[in-house]
Amino acid sequence: MEDRTIFHKIRDKEIPADIVYEDDEVVAFRDIHPKAATHLLFIPKHFVASIDDVTPETAHLPGMLILKAQLFAKEKGITGYKLTFHVGKGGGQEVFYLHLHFLSDQTV
Ligand code: AMP
Repeated sequence: MEDRTIFHKIRDKEIPADIVYEDDEVVAFRDIHPKAATHLLFIPKHFVASIDDVTPETAHLPGMLILKAQLFAKEKGITGYKLTFHVGKGGGQEVFYLHLHFLSDQTV
C-alpha cells in the first residue's frame, strides 16, 4: 500500500485545489503558498514519490511534466518561467509525490 499524500487526494478530487490544467497524464494546480505571481505544481497521475525514486521504468515522467509545463506556458503566453524539482528532505521536499514547481512573474 502506498502512503497517500495530499497530492494523491488532489489528484483523486478528494480535497479541493485550484486546478489550472488536467489531462490523462498530469494535473496542474496552484501552489497554496505561492512564491511568485504564478506558482503552479505539475504532478503525474502515475505516482512516484520523488526524483530520487525514479527508475528506468518511470524516467519518462519528469520529462513529461516539463513538456506539459512548456505547452501550458506557450498556450498562456508565458514567455519566462522557472522549473524546479525539490529532491528529498535535504532538498526542501515536503510532499513526497513527484511534482514540478512552475514559477513565473507573469500572471495567468
Ligand atoms: P515541496 O517543498 O517541493 O515538497 O513543495 C510542496 C509544495 O506544495 C509547497 O510549495 C506547498 O506550498 C504546496 N502545497 C502543500 N499543500 C498544498 C495544497 N493543499 N494545495 C496546493 N499546494 C500545496
